[in-house]
Amino acid sequence: MTTQNNPSYAAEPKSIKIPPVYLYLFSEGDGKNKKLLGGKGAGLCEMTQIGLPVPPGFVITTQACLEYFDGGFKLPEGLRDQVRQAMSQVEKSMSLGFGDSEKPLLVSIRSGAAISMPGMMDTVLNLGLNDETVRGLIKRSGDDRFGWDSYRRFISLFGEIVLKINSDLFSNAMEALKKERNATYDTTLSSFDLQGLVETFKRIIEDNVGKPIPNDPYEQLFMAIEAVFASWNGKRAVDYRREFKIIPEIANGTAVNVQAMVFGNVGEHSATGVIFTRNPSTGENVLFGDYLERAQGEDIVAGIRTPKPIFEMKQVMPEVHRELLKVRETLETHFREIQDVEFTVENGKLFMLQTRSAKMNIAAGMKTSVDLVNEGLITKEQALTRLDAAQLTQLMYSQIDPENKTQPVTVGLGVSPGAASGEVVFDADEAERQSKTHGKKIILLREQTKPEDIHGFFAAQGILTTVGGKTSHAAVVARGMGKPCVTGAGDIKINAVDESATIGDHKIIQGDVITIDGTSGKVWLGEVSMVEPEFSKDMNTILNWADKFRRLGVRTNVDTPSDAAKALRFGAEGIGLCRTERMFNAADRIGIFQEMILADSPEDRAATLRRLEPLQKEDFKAMLRVMQGFPVTIRLLDPPLHEFLPSEEEIQRQIDMLQKSKVALDNVCRLPKILRTLDPQLEPLLTGDQQMLNSLARLQKSELDKKLETLQKIRVLKEVNPMLGHRGVRLGITYPEIYETQVEAILEAAAELIKESVAVKVEIMVPNVCTAEELKRVEELIKRVEQQVTEKTGVIVPYKFGSMIEVVRACMRAGKLAEMAEFFSFGTNDLTQATFSFSREDAENKFLPLYNQLKILQDNPFEILDVKGVGRLMSITVEWGRRSRPDLEIGICGEQGGEPSSIEFCHAIGLDYVSCSPYRISIARLAAAQAAIKEKKGGHGKTV
Ligand code: ADP
Ligand code: MG
Ligand code: MG
Repeated sequence: MTTQNNPSYAAEPKSIKIPPVYLYLFSEGDGKNKKLLGGKGAGLCEMTQIGLPVPPGFVITTQACLEYFDGGFKLPEGLRDQVRQAMSQVEKSMSLGFGDSEKPLLVSIRSGAAISMPGMMDTVLNLGLNDETVRGLIKRSGDDRFGWDSYRRFISLFGEIVLKINSDLFSNAMEALKKERNATYDTTLSSFDLQGLVETFKRIIEDNVGKPIPNDPYEQLFMAIEAVFASWNGKRAVDYRREFKIIPEIANGTAVNVQAMVFGNVGEHSATGVIFTRNPSTGENVLFGDYLERAQGEDIVAGIRTPKPIFEMKQVMPEVHRELLKVRETLETHFREIQDVEFTVENGKLFMLQTRSAKMNIAAGMKTSVDLVNEGLITKEQALTRLDAAQLTQLMYSQIDPENKTQPVTVGLGVSPGAASGEVVFDADEAERQSKTHGKKIILLREQTKPEDIHGFFAAQGILTTVGGKTSHAAVVARGMGKPCVTGAGDIKINAVDESATIGDHKIIQGDVITIDGTSGKVWLGEVSMVEPEFSKDMNTILNWADKFRRLGVRTNVDTPSDAAKALRFGAEGIGLCRTERMFNAADRIGIFQEMILADSPEDRAATLRRLEPLQKEDFKAMLRVMQGFPVTIRLLDPPLHEFLPSEEEIQRQIDMLQKSKVALDNVCRLPKILRTLDPQLEPLLTGDQQMLNSLARLQKSELDKKLETLQKIRVLKEVNPMLGHRGVRLGITYPEIYETQVEAILEAAAELIKESVAVKVEIMVPNVCTAEELKRVEELIKRVEQQVTEKTGVIVPYKFGSMIEVVRACMRAGKLAEMAEFFSFGTNDLTQATFSFSREDAENKFLPLYNQLKILQDNPFEILDVKGVGRLMSITVEWGRRSRPDLEIGICGEQGGEPSSIEFCHAIGLDYVSCSPYRISIARLAAAQAAIKEKKGGHGKTV
């Protein structure tokens, strides 16, 4: 059965004459083997074997399909004979004959790969009809309209799918006839009309392929089987597999199901329908779905008439409805999963035509997980593994109402999920004013944002920028705060002069309401209705179960106490990354911090830092207090200093303005003198003015000098490649005052809390370390400060000292670093950039999409950990680090730490925890449990 996995199979010597088994009757096939039988075939086998009413038939395997391609588009030897034999079985169970002019058997030819590819491959219905058998069908059913209707369906399906004739030719002919007869629906066409249509369709076939559809039903059958096989490599299917990353290991080739036809379009008591065993959008335990009376399967999808909700069937066909309820139970008890089912009723008799696991949204997924466990159908492990952890984000944000019909005005990049409505404001100060003093909901709209806009982020509901990508300042900050953000909405043009924006010919001014969706990137004018996020009872149950199974700890990346509190509510067990630079960026600090950067001497710098220290200390106290003794990893200053200064262009603009106003002011200063000359009696009145003007001029000059100095400093700090430049620990070495102040603030904060008997657990982390010597120097610095703090406060603060691992050299020196570091934290954003030697921003904006499309890279390594490269470095680092310090604590704080497959890898290489943004904590909790369960089951944990 598994020969298809064996690559040498195709090369086996042809001299072995006994052909393999190419097909299985539904009553015989192994329904567990979806790779061989395809999902549809496997489902049909299972349903048949558990005693459900399935029209008889058989599955031709995916292996036969692969051999069809290997053999140069020829049906493999022996297949035809096996098909004829199987058909005789089907004939027997139906008491009909294939090609029999009295009691003709008709079949459907249905494709079905291991994985469902909706709408990608084709089905031919009513095969076996020709000019003779159609008479038999009419006789058998006593309904000639039905006979001709089935025949015309067959001809057009066969023409389209097997003979590749443009389907428009058939539908146009049908439309022309309907027009002639003044008919709205096909159902109004008479038997005579349909018989005429059959002739028209036959003519279309002959005109296009030069010959008619063969009369011989077996010839029809083999042609259809070949067509379904060939459709696997048709453009549509190949594109679909590329899009959804369906590689051969997941699905290779399609199976073909040949199944006796049953008719939902014959007589009064017939119907066809699609049901779910539970409601797939809420998970509610009720039969859910639609049915259509007097119709064939594809009519429901084609939307020819509006189907009725399934509960209405209770009135019309009570027996069938009751039977369906029983089927529902049988299926769920057997598959232990919610099923998505196709059925047809022929003259009051129910037939099952398809079953598969239902696709559900995550809310329904969680509800059914909890219910199935309570009903005793699955274990808690199964309840957790059947969920898609990544989808949990769907529940963490406000979302645009799925029913919303309003059209967006433009679409930018959705970079931070969630939806928000608010009044447009064009700058951060105004945003703060509008929100604080007027309690307004704000959308901050800017070309792009800078660190000094941070208070605007706090004030706003959402952020919209017209330039920038996924890692622009706006995107990164908004994601960290969990605020909706759309960037790169280039259709919107901001007019700085009159503080307005235009989109097309619509003008937006401050106060106009807009709505953004940070998931899709869409932007609407006005308010759009939304649905609120919820942490339901089911979600709590699921996550509590997950906590019992997982081994990985889950921490969070946050910079403010309020985010920390939120993260705790979501289940965080500590902070894995607290970025101190955000603290410098707060509105009351950025000025002092800039002064510190601009200081000329270490003494001046230290003096300015002294003013910052108490502010930082309060921040750390608040943070540590909120975290109630959970570990808090604080990273010392990381980004290059120029990031805290205004841009060169901005300063230059201010200087230009000051210089212009200087000319004006100089002129005004001369005014009193002129007046005095005109009228000496004005003298006493003018002296005061002259003094005031002079001091104004002095003030103006000193302001100008300051700006010039800043400009000078910005130019000095300018680096060719700042991300590879003067940053991280290198700053700490060149400006030790900065790290000293930070460490002092951290340790004093902890000491004061300890005095209050608040539990604290501090971890001090050094960024961007390359060499052990760097780490050693910072360690010495910390020890020095520690001593001072102990002397000052009388408290010995316990803390851990560790290194961020985000430089390749640090990985290679893990053993040495671990002699000093008590913990490592993988900064996988920088480590990925360092490993690939390309920057994220450039990669994502310039070549990564093409690389993904060409399969040069499978995924975006900044979202999904690159296990083969970066992961390899990580596992070496873990091994070498723990060799010199067995109890080395190791975590990950890069963005990938909240992505399920990356989490699985982190589990496999033995990390202690993952740390992610608050909104990804639930994903991490669930994914960590799934990784542990998979490992326990002996599934291959994801390794290098
Ligand atoms: P898809 O994968 O696109 O759903 P299917 O193979 O399930 O394609 O078939 C298309 C439609 O034809 C479905 O509605 C199905 O129920 C119906 N159908 C397929 N085989 C039969 C059959 N033997 N008797 C009656 N209806 C059938
Ligand atoms: Mg189907
Ligand atoms: Mg970094």
